[in-house]
Amino acid sequence: MLKPDKDLIIIGGGAAGLSAAQYGARANLNTLLIEETALGGQALIIEGLENYPGFPEPISGFELAQRFEQQARNFGAEFLTASVKRVQKEGELFKVETSAGVLTSYAVLIATGAKHRMLGVPGEKELAGKGVSYCATCDGPFFKNQKMLVVGGGDAACDEAMFLAKLSDKIIHIHRRDRFRAQKALANRVLNNPHIQVRFNTVLERIHGIKNPMGIEKVHKVTLKQLDTGKVYDEEVAAVFVFIGSDPNTGFIEGVEKDENGYILTDQRMQTNIPGLFCAGDSRATPFRQIVVAAGEGAIAAHSAAQYIDELLGQAY
Ligand code: NAP
Repeated sequence: MLKPDKDLIIIGGGAAGLSAAQYGARANLNTLLIEETALGGQALIIEGLENYPGFPEPISGFELAQRFEQQARNFGAEFLTASVKRVQKEGELFKVETSAGVLTSYAVLIATGAKHRMLGVPGEKELAGKGVSYCATCDGPFFKNQKMLVVGGGDAACDEAMFLAKLSDKIIHIHRRDRFRAQKALANRVLNNPHIQVRFNTVLERIHGIKNPMGIEKVHKVTLKQLDTGKVYDEEVAAVFVFIGSDPNTGFIEGVEKDENGYILTDQRMQTNIPGLFCAGDSRATPFRQIVVAAGEGAIAAHSAAQYIDELLGQAY
C-alpha cells in the first residue's frame, strides 16, 4: 500500500475536531486538521460558557477553543486553513480535495458541525451573542427572571422553551403556524406551562438593540406581526432564542449514510458505513448537541481511527 500524506485527516475545527486532533496526535498518528475559517466552531459565539466541566468560572468560547488548539499543537497535531471540496475513498486510502491541493490519508474524521438556521430579520446578525442566541442551555442563565422570546415550532424550540421556563416565568413563544410541529407530548408541556405564553400565527419582523451605559448594545425589544390579523406591535424582551432548525455541513461527502435531516449515522465508535471514515460532533446524528459531547465524541473517533489504522497496517495487537 502507498504511504499517504497523513495518517488521519480531520475536517472541521470545532470542539469535536480539536479534541480529536489532540487524541490523534497523542496516539502517535500523523494528524492534520483542516478548517476553512477560525478554529472553535460554534463555541466562538458564546460569550461566557458556564457548563463546560472544569471551568467553574465562565470561560469564553473563544478562549476555550484557543486552549483546545494549544493542547492539540503541544502533542504535534498540524493545522491547515483550506476548504474541503470532496472526500473519496480510493482503494484503502482517502483522497481529500481541498482548496490548497489534494491530500491522502488512511482515515478521515468529519467534524464539520451544523449551522443553525437564521431568520434573516433586521437586527438578528448584529445582535447575535448580545441577546440573540441559538442555544438556551448556553445563554439562558444570563437572562434569569427576564422576559425572553422563543421562535420556532419544532422539538428544539419546545425543548428549549421548557428549559428557559425554569429560569423565568416570562417566556413568550411564537410560531408562524396555528400549532406546533413538535411531538404532541412536548408541545402539550409547553402549552400547559404557566411560565410560557404561546402566540401562534406570529412572526418576528425585527430585533432592536439599545446601548447600555458602557456603550455595549444589547437586545431591547422586538417587532412582532400577528399573521391572521395583520397587527404589528413591539414587545420589550431581553433575549431572543431562535430555533428554526439546523443544517449539517455534510453536503461535500458522498456515499455516507445520513438520516433524513442530513446528519451522518455512525456506530458507537463514531465509524460511518465507510470503513476508515468517522464522524463526531454536531454533524453526527446525535441526541444532545453540546461542546462537551462533541469533545467526547472527537476523542472516541480519534481512538477508533487509531485502532482502524493499526488493523489496516497489520499492527493491531
Ligand atoms: P424542525 O423540526 O425542522 O423545526 C423547525 C421549526 O422552525 C418548524 O416549526 C418550522 O416551521 C420553523 N421554521 C423554519 N423556518 C422558519 C422561519 N424562517 N421562520 C419561522 N419559523 C421557521 O427543527 P428542530 O426543532 O431543530 O429539530 C430538528 C430535528 O431534531 C428534528 O428531527 C427533531 O425531532 C430533532 N429534535 C428532537 C428533540 C427531542 O426529541 N427532544 C429535540 C430537539 C430536536 P413550520 O412548522 O412552519 O415548518
